[in-house]
Amino acid sequence: ANGHQPAPLDASKLTYTLTTSPRDVPEFDAAVASSETICTDHMITATWKADAGWSAPELRPYGPLSLMPTASCLHYATECFEGLKVYRGFDGGLRMFRPDCNAARFRVSAARIALPDFEADEVVKLMTSLLSVDGAKWLPRERPGSFLYIRPTLIGTQPQLGVGAAREAMMYIIVNFMPRLDNPPGGMRLLTSPDDMVRAWVGGFGYAKLGANYGPSLVANSEARRLGYHQILWLYGPDLECTEAGASNFFVLWKTKDGRKELITAPLDDKLILDGVTRRSVLQLVRERLTDELVITERKYSIAEVLEASSEGRILEAFAAGTAFFIAAVSQIHHRGKDINIPMGPDAQPAEITNKVKTWLADITYGRTQHEWGVVI
Ligand code: PMP
Repeated sequence: ANGHQPAPLDASKLTYTLTTSPRDVPEFDAAVASSETICTDHMITATWKADAGWSAPELRPYGPLSLMPTASCLHYATECFEGLKVYRGFDGGLRMFRPDCNAARFRVSAARIALPDFEADEVVKLMTSLLSVDGAKWLPRERPGSFLYIRPTLIGTQPQLGVGAAREAMMYIIVNFMPRLDNPPGGMRLLTSPDDMVRAWVGGFGYAKLGANYGPSLVANSEARRLGYHQILWLYGPDLECTEAGASNFFVLWKTKDGRKELITAPLDDKLILDGVTRRSVLQLVRERLTDELVITERKYSIAEVLEASSEGRILEAFAAGTAFFIAAVSQIHHRGKDINIPMGPDAQPAEITNKVKTWLADITYGRTQHEWGVVI
C-alpha cells in the first residue's frame, strides 16, 4: 500500500546537465541599469504532481521555462518565492545567511496558496548544490564583499482555467548577479502609503512571500520614486500603524516619554508583515547584546506616535532591514505634507545603533565573525 505514496522532494536525487555555453561574469561595478537580470550559468528545477509527488530535481543550464498559457500561476497568482544572498567573505569563504529560515518561510508561503509542501532542508541542499557549481565562478575570490541573490520560486503549472488548487507545480532556483550595492547616500527617504491603499490586511497574506503582494504595490512605489523617495512606508488600519518599508522591515529607535531608549518594530501576530530574516536577526542580536542599553519592543505603533516623538525631539534613529538593502538608515519620512527628519550619524553615515547592527550582521555574512548563521558552502 506504501508504493503509491507521493515522492518527497529529495535533493540527493539531483541530476546534473552542465552548460556548453558558459557566460562571462559581468564587472563588479556593472551598471545597475541593465534591463535584464543576469543569472548564473545554471538553475535547478523540480516538478510536482499531486499523485506522483516530486520529480528528481535537475541542475541544468539557465534558460526559459516552458509553460502552457493556461498554467495556474499565470492566472491565479499561484506563485511564491524566496530571496536570500550568498556572500564572498573577506576570509575567502562563500556563505549563505540563515538559509534554513528562508526555506521554512518558503513552505509557509506555499501553504497559503495551496502549493505543495516539501522538506525545508531539501531546498537548502539544492541551493548549496547550485552554488557549489556556480558560486566560485560568479563570486570570484578577488571580489570579497560581493554577493549573488538566490531566488527559489514555486509556481502552479496546472494547465487548467478552472479555479482550484494546482495539482501540478514547479520549483525552480535561480541565482542572479548583483552589482555593488550602495545604500542611498544621506539615508533612505520614505513616503507613507497613499490613504486609499493598503499592502496587506488581517486575514490576508502579507506574511507570505507571494508575488501577489508585490504587483499591487507598484503604483504607490512608482509614485514614491517619481517624488524622489526610495520606498513606501506602508501604514495600516484606522490608526495608521507603521508596518513595513517597501521590501524591508522597519525599525525606529526613540526615547519613550519616560526617557527610556526603545527600539520598536511592528509585531508579527496579526500576520500583516513579512517575518523578515534580517528583522529576526536584528531583534535577536540586539536582545543578546544591548538589553542593558535598550528596551526592545514588537508592538503596533502609529505614524502619529512617530510624528509626536519627532516633534518632541525623541527620535534617535530609524532603519530598514531586509535582504535587498540590508540595514539601511532612514533619514526622512514624509507623511501627508509633513516631513519627519530622522538624525543620522556624522558625515550622513548611519547613526550609532544602526551602524552597530549593520556591522554585526556584515561581520557574520562576510566571515569576520564565525557564527552559525553564516552557512559555509
Ligand atoms: N518585508 C517584505 C515585504 C519583503 O519583501 C522583505 C524581503 N524579503 C522583507 C520584509 C525583509 O525580509 P528578509 O529580511 O527576509 O529579506
